[in-house]
Amino acid sequence: MPHIQILNQITIDKIAAGEVIERPASIVKELVENAIDAGASLVTIEIKDGGISFIRITDNGSGIERADVRNAFLRHSTSKIQNVEDLAYISSLGFRGEALSSIAAVTQTELITKTKEEMNGTRYVIEGGQEKLLEDTGAPNGTTFLIRQLFYNVPARRKFLKTPMTEAGHIQDLLMHLALSHPEVCFQFINNGQEKLRTSGNGKLKDVIYQIYGRDVAANLLDIDFEKGGIHITGYLGKPVITRGNRNFENFFVNGRYVKSSMISKSVEDAYKDFVMQHKFPFVVLHFHVNGEEVDVNVHPTKMELRFQKQQEVYSAVFEGVHRKLLEPELIQKVALSK
Ligand code: ADP
Ligand code: MG
Repeated sequence: MPHIQILNQITIDKIAAGEVIERPASIVKELVENAIDAGASLVTIEIKDGGISFIRITDNGSGIERADVRNAFLRHSTSKIQNVEDLAYISSLGFRGEALSSIAAVTQTELITKTKEEMNGTRYVIEGGQEKLLEDTGAPNGTTFLIRQLFYNVPARRKFLKTPMTEAGHIQDLLMHLALSHPEVCFQFINNGQEKLRTSGNGKLKDVIYQIYGRDVAANLLDIDFEKGGIHITGYLGKPVITRGNRNFENFFVNGRYVKSSMISKSVEDAYKDFVMQHKFPFVVLHFHVNGEEVDVNVHPTKMELRFQKQQEVYSAVFEGVHRKLLEPELIQKVALSK
C-alpha cells in the first residue's frame, strides 16, 4: 500500500465539482443565481451546443471588486454568510461558496466584472482550476461569465453528457423556473443565436406566466393569496379547464427558490381532486413565504429539495388555500356550465 497523502487542491476541487456541476444546466443555475443575488435586474444567458462548448451569462448586478476576484474562486468563499447561524436567516440563493471554484475546476472560465465604484473592470481567466490571467479591462458595471468546454479535463464526465438538444432543454426548464421565481428580473435566453425566452422584468408574475406558457394559460388563472399558521401562499392556480397530462406544470417556490416537493404536490392534487378528471394534473405557480427557520434548504448541494419543520401544517395550509379558491361560487358555476 502506498502512503496516505493529502490530495492537492486542484484534485480536491475536481472531485468536489462533480457534486455541484453535473451538466451545463448546473452551471447556468449557479451563475444566474449569483446574478440574482448580486441584485441584477437584467440577466442574459447565451448558449451554444447545449451549453457544452459555450455559455455566456451577463448581468447588470453589483460586480466583483478587483481585490475579491481571486478569492471568489476559492472553495468555501462567500460574501453571503459568515457562520452557520446565518443559515437560519438565509435570503440569498447561494451561500455555500462552492460554485465558482467548482465551475473553474472543470471548464475554461473567463470573467469580466466591474463595480460601479471602480474606474476599470477586471478580466480573469482560469482553466481547470489554474489561473491564467488577471488584468484591467474596460467593462460596463456588472458581470459577464464565459464558460467554455465543460469537462474538457474530465473525459469520464464528459461522456455522460446528453445531446446538445437535451442539455439545452434542461437549461430552458431551469430558466423558466428562475423567471417564475423572479418576475422583477428581466431574463433573456438565446440558444444558438435564437431567442428562446424573454421576460419583461416588470415584477408581475402573471406576465411571466403569459410570456412562458402563452395566452391560453394566462387567460385561465385564479390568483391566490392565503395565509395560515405562518405559511403565506401567493401565486396562481390554473382553472380546471386547463389541466395538463403530467406534473410538469406544478411549480412551487419557497422563499424565492424553485423546489420539488411530493408533499406539496399531493396537497395541491388532493385539493383539485373534485374539480379535474382522473390522471389530469393542475397548472399552478405557487410561492410560499415562510419564516427561514421553518425550512432547511441545506439538504442537498443543488438546494432543490428542502425540508419543512412542520410538514403537516404546510400540507393543510396548501389544501385549504387551494380548495377554498376552487370553491369560489363564480368558478363552480363555470365548471357546471362547461359540463
Ligand atoms: P456563493 O454564491 O455560495 O456565495 P459562489 O461560488 O457562487 O458562492 O460565488 C462566490 C462569491 O462570488 C459570491 O459570494 C459573490 O460575492 C461573488 N459573485 C459570484 N458571482 C457574482 C456576480 N454575478 N455578481 C457579483 N458577485 C458575484
Ligand atoms: Mg453562488
